[in-house]
Amino acid sequence: MTYKELDAKYFMPCFGRSMQIVKGEGCTVFDDEGKSYLDLVAGIAVCSTGHCHPKVVEAICNQAQKLIHCSNLYYVEGQAEFAEKLSKASGMGKVFFGNSGAEANEAAMKLARVRSGRKNFVSFSHDFHGRTIGSLAVTHKPAIREPFEPLGTPCSFAEYGDLESLKNLVNKDTAAVILEPIQGETGVIIPDDDFLPGVRDICDDTGAFMIVDEVQTGMGRTGEWFAFQHSKVMPDIISIAKGIASGFPMGAIVAREGLEFTRSEHGSTFAGGPVACAAGLATYDVIESILPEVSMKGELFREGLSRFNPRVRGLMVGFTIGDRAAELSAECQKNGVLINVAADGNIRLVPPLVISNEEIARAVEVINEAADTLGI
Ligand SMILES: *Cc1c(COP(=O)(O)O)cnc(C)c1O
Repeated sequence: MTYKELDAKYFMPCFGRSMQIVKGEGCTVFDDEGKSYLDLVAGIAVCSTGHCHPKVVEAICNQAQKLIHCSNLYYVEGQAEFAEKLSKASGMGKVFFGNSGAEANEAAMKLARVRSGRKNFVSFSHDFHGRTIGSLAVTHKPAIREPFEPLGTPCSFAEYGDLESLKNLVNKDTAAVILEPIQGETGVIIPDDDFLPGVRDICDDTGAFMIVDEVQTGMGRTGEWFAFQHSKVMPDIISIAKGIASGFPMGAIVAREGLEFTRSEHGSTFAGGPVACAAGLATYDVIESILPEVSMKGELFREGLSRFNPRVRGLMVGFTIGDRAAELSAECQKNGVLINVAADGNIRLVPPLVISNEEIARAVEVINEAADTLGI
């Protein structure tokens, strides 16, 4: 059987996909026929250090030869060091690790519930927070949420960017308001500058916690370590995942000083294991060295793709194509550039943060030519 036949027979058909990627190096990936692609998807904002960055590979291999797993029953080498990095980068307090974005949000929601003694959450239209029973409850898209109701927690949804609609929903029963500082899965939707400060005020007025989901926007993606740092506000809890360990599964929450789980309130078998922490520490060092260039690289996309009037914050780039977004993506793929079709006819570009100016120039040229060819 071919891998496609095997997949059809043995793997649940949750994903629509066209090819197999078998190798990656920097911003380039290779399919099983040896064709190369400039990768502006980066495993959906995950491979921020590029594919198989030598420092990350070395850290993973060295740790794998020494110890792969030991359990959180024991101190884990590298775990406290990595927690310190995340705490200092965010300017917040203590860290708890997880294995994914959804799991990080679960931890954030549990922490908000147990420390507030309240049950309800408020999220936003088109927000995405994950697909577990808890994180799905605060994810807006009815098509992926409603088939699984009842979900883990009561949640109501305000209009994203609209503080008045939020004010009407948050009250003394609200454990937390959870939001994406920039909506990723929906196609890079950037709210006005007064949105985060306004959410902070409403949370302060009602005693609700403010959870900022930095799963996609965090770890340097927007030109700051975390997207909330473009504003002056401090969240109570942030969740992190995608770009945290270059593709080794990992997630984390960081809470503000003094806000924490007590003994036995939360736990995990795999989370914050030695290999994940080694990958995370190596990833952190690479990102730290390139972070100052991220915003400038985003501006190169803004200039190069100006015909589409793109939405840009660092290396999170989105633009609206409409019905023909999938065609544009297919044409770019044919010409050796991978782009992502997000919701509502939006294209999302979330390339490795290590992408070079030359690679950006090539990417922009291929996307523009594809649009010309298709008459978009
Ligand atoms: C991807 C994403 C998640 C879910 O992360 P998983 O690792 O797939 O569980 C949650 N929130 C945001 C903002 C995301 O982009």
